Amino acid sequence: MSKSYYEILGVHKDASAEAIKKAYRKQAMKHHPDRNQGDAAAEEKFKEAAEAYEVLSDLQKRQIYDAYGKEGLRNSGYSGPGNSEDIFSHINDLFGDLFGFGGGGRGRRRDPNGPVPGEDLRYDIKISFMEAVHGINRQVEITKKETCWTCEGSGARPGNKPETCPTCHGRGQVIRSQGFFQVSTTCPRCNGAGQVITDPCTDCHGEGLISRSKKVSIRIPAGVDTGSRMRLSGEGEGGRRGGPSGDLYVVIHVDEHEHFQRDGQTIYLRLPVSMVRAALGCEADVPTIHDTAKLKIPAGAQSGERFTLRGEGVPSLRGGSKGDMVVEVQVQTPTKLTKDQKELLREFEALDKEHEEEGFFARLFHGHLGKQKKKSEDQEKVANG
Ligand code: ZN
Repeated sequence: MSKSYYEILGVHKDASAEAIKKAYRKQAMKHHPDRNQGDAAAEEKFKEAAEAYEVLSDLQKRQIYDAYGKEGLRNSGYSGPGNSEDIFSHINDLFGDLFGFGGGGRGRRRDPNGPVPGEDLRYDIKISFMEAVHGINRQVEITKKETCWTCEGSGARPGNKPETCPTCHGRGQVIRSQGFFQVSTTCPRCNGAGQVITDPCTDCHGEGLISRSKKVSIRIPAGVDTGSRMRLSGEGEGGRRGGPSGDLYVVIHVDEHEHFQRDGQTIYLRLPVSMVRAALGCEADVPTIHDTAKLKIPAGAQSGERFTLRGEGVPSLRGGSKGDMVVEVQVQTPTKLTKDQKELLREFEALDKEHEEEGFFARLFHGHLGKQKKKSEDQEKVANG
């Protein structure tokens, strides 16, 4: 059977808190890892002593341990002895003066018993492409912790006062050793409050905060884009002990559109134009993010050619001018032709051949064709000569 915590520290079962502290200090100094580098047995004893002290130095834990043993501690919700953060927190309680650190002041960020501001919250919202362009009002339901009004965020049952935290002795911070370094961290017992609640508020179970879901109206302005952030002041989690509420950050995610693309305030659209209309030029009706617009396409427009429609883009978030829309022409080659259309295109092709020599093929084959021409001219001369 393993040793009892009393045996580990070498004290009597009725030992006073002072005697337990003294005994632990002796054990901890003897087996401290810094003094016994690489000695596994010493490290084990050091941990054992810390575990024993953690329980025996806390009146509540000691009472549970005396009555029900280690099993009882585990069943009563203590995270269990041997938690390394606690081990070192006790060391520093004891050796703070000795090693020249601790004793409050350093690493403390705020009055541990003062107001605690609420946490900021982040809410990600997905909206459609058009909602981003035109803006929209959305009501969302957010579950968040709000100040408990029964205890006004103190966590203590009304009429009761919180008591000084036994782990950090009200400092709110504990100092943990990592090799040569001493790192100051928030006390795990009281979460930096410096106080623990012995008679908790029944509504919030001592937390000072209550989870509630709340409907929040969000007005999303025209022109937002993926990654746009909005801050709703005071809509975050509630504060404790009179601290202000945090803020709610809404992060926008915009869906893609089937046809429109967007880069900042500029809208891009690929517009299919029939081969004939592209060749002859036309005035096309172009769908825009606002409505439709007329676009003059000059005769001979090619696939990939771009035209700009001023002011048909996305409005600026700060108000004021709208961006532009860039239309890229895509010339469509017909795939289903009637007999008559085929006939007309053949006629067109025949007429087109007359221009061929000035065209692309003529230039490409110029050298080759030229030589052939010269040859036949020579032959002609011979024949005539
Ligand atoms: Zn409460």
